Amino acid sequence: MSRFLSASRAGIKPYVPGEQPRGEKLIKLNTNEAPYAPPQSVIDALSGASLNLYCDPLGLELRQALAEYHGVAPEHISLGNGSDDNLALLYTSFFDTAAPIAFPDVTYGLYPVLAALYNVPFTEIPLRNDLTVNVDDYVNAPQNVILANPNAPTGIALPISEIERIVVANPDRLVVIDEAYADFWGESAIPLTMKYGNIIVVRTYSKSRFLAGARLGYVVAPAELIGDIEAVRFSINPYNVTSPTLLAGREALRNNEYFHVRWTEIAATRDRTISALRERGFEATDSKSNFIFAKYPKIHGPELLQKLRARGILVRNLGPDRIRPWLRITVGTPEQMDALLAAIDAVIDN
Ligand SMILES: *Cc1c(COP(=O)(O)O)cnc(C)c1O
Repeated sequence: MSRFLSASRAGIKPYVPGEQPRGEKLIKLNTNEAPYAPPQSVIDALSGASLNLYCDPLGLELRQALAEYHGVAPEHISLGNGSDDNLALLYTSFFDTAAPIAFPDVTYGLYPVLAALYNVPFTEIPLRNDLTVNVDDYVNAPQNVILANPNAPTGIALPISEIERIVVANPDRLVVIDEAYADFWGESAIPLTMKYGNIIVVRTYSKSRFLAGARLGYVVAPAELIGDIEAVRFSINPYNVTSPTLLAGREALRNNEYFHVRWTEIAATRDRTISALRERGFEATDSKSNFIFAKYPKIHGPELLQKLRARGILVRNLGPDRIRPWLRITVGTPEQMDALLAAIDAVIDN
């Protein structure tokens, strides 16, 4: 730490992203990327940008297309450099000591990191023993709420009617729903943003639009809240989404058919792999996302991760202690999942 680091940042513990291997040939199932490239027309769109000019700070064309896709008005959408950027914007727009937040003890690791960075008091509400969210905990909580739905890294989803119950219970606080994986499930809280003034839905192109490297996310919320977010965004970085990415994001929406087919394939591969893992004595959640959350009772999570890595398969093992026995495994191609199962068989037989 340098002597210049702001006192308010002393002791920050940054988020640690999943490993991006360099050189080593590994089957990469650790950061929930898609195993497929986006359609060629999306890749081609990137080179259509006029790079000498600034990108459109309003991202109007893409917002218009997203609005049509989701059946909302463009004033209900704002764009960001991935969901992480949008989450940071939400924190600095809406949360502080007077507006604390609550989220599950097992959820996306960036939520507590951002809270510490922005000095937002936070409460971690324990999931039930079966790793499901107890909705009543949030119905009764006095704080603003952040829930990933499906949750990460459990993959377990709450019905939208249960989300609505939390939104309705307390109109004086915000409910943020992080839908990074919602496309793999097919349900969304976005319609609630037309009905209530206190719900914000966060979406990303990283997982279900196969564009993690392009960095694109969007927020769907009542127009008044989008106005606040846009004011803050224009105060930090009005050009947070590059012009190639704006074009790729627009083109991806012209290829919905391609993505829908892939989502169905990924869900089928996931369910087949979950069954195969259960047959081998694993415990696995009922994941609705593009990853599997599973544990093998006889080998602790970190140890199993190392054994799989030695056999060329990279998966993820995340804190807190409560879920250390578990592995989060991205759903890859059917061939990659076969390789995973073969590696697991070899580890178990030893
Ligand atoms: C991957 C992920 C994000 C971050 O997505 P980016 O758009 O790549 O920043 C946010 N929330 C959850 C729950 C995620 O799994």
